[in-house]
Amino acid sequence: MDISIVIPAYNEEESLPELIKQLSLVLNELKKTYEIIIVDDGSTDGTLSAAKTLKRDFPALKVLSFRKNYGKSAALSEAFKLAKGNYVITMDADLQDDPAEISNLISTLESGNYDLVSGWKKKRFDPFSKTMPSRIFNFVTSKITRINIHDFNCGLKIYRHAVIKDLKIYGELHRFLPVLAHWNGFRVGELSVQHHPRKYGKTKFGISRFFNGFFDLLTVIFITRYQTSPLHIFGMMGLASSLLGIAIELYLSILWFMGKGIRNRPLFFLGILAIIVGVQFIVFGLLGEMITARFAEQTQYSVKEKIE
Ligand code: UDP
Ligand code: MG
Repeated sequence: MDISIVIPAYNEEESLPELIKQLSLVLNELKKTYEIIIVDDGSTDGTLSAAKTLKRDFPALKVLSFRKNYGKSAALSEAFKLAKGNYVITMDADLQDDPAEISNLISTLESGNYDLVSGWKKKRFDPFSKTMPSRIFNFVTSKITRINIHDFNCGLKIYRHAVIKDLKIYGELHRFLPVLAHWNGFRVGELSVQHHPRKYGKTKFGISRFFNGFFDLLTVIFITRYQTSPLHIFGMMGLASSLLGIAIELYLSILWFMGKGIRNRPLFFLGILAIIVGVQFIVFGLLGEMITARFAEQTQYSVKEKIE
């Protein structure tokens, strides 16, 4: 199988028929073998029946339907388990991503020798309330992760098969797929793609996505950099805080020996606080290490080649 198209769909009954028709035109022209996997993410409208109806005309269609709405990450994760294609392309179900970009994605992946190429909605057709927070989010994520792309959360992406097999996504970590892939040693590229306004239905993500996005960024930093060595981060914070506290208390002790009262000085309490917090951080780190040690065999490494 050459290509797997993965489409998460939550209440997208109107969009699906149009999307599948456009997609199959594009795919048939490529002269490659393909499958289209629709994941109905617990839709409450007619998404599932629309997909079943389409299946009659498009045998390359595969449909997976969740009993309830688990979220986009869950939908992608389950579809990745099914996907057989050498290349796996994800796209949103709402017609905002353009199937015509597929051949560009493939050629960028191949010519740039990338493992993942992420779409970039350079000219984006979404309300300002959405594009502005998204800009901030992308800027911060790019700075922190040092990955030079502009649009981490674009639904339109192409992956080599090996990338998706090594990705573990849950919660709302689908926003960070390029980060997780990069962390596994895969090469991540970017392609500016055509974006369209939403034609039917409505967006599934409100303003809460902005805050959740930053919590998830923190999670991603932790699970990529410190998963196997939690004491490195917690120990450092703990040490800094404890040392600060100890320095403060030493200074106040000297004053006390010199006969000055220190009990009513705010600094006295700050010093104690810093020591307690510091010790707690170190203990968190040690607890983290104990958890890590327990699950050591389950640590996943991304293997590039195996020669026997
Ligand atoms: N989606 C999903 N499960 C969810 C929320 C969204 O499968 O819980 C799908 C949705 O149907 C669409 C894609 O994820 O195909 C992107 O969602 P949306 O278009 O609402 O996001 P936006 O384009 O507004 O960022
Ligand atoms: Mg959309």
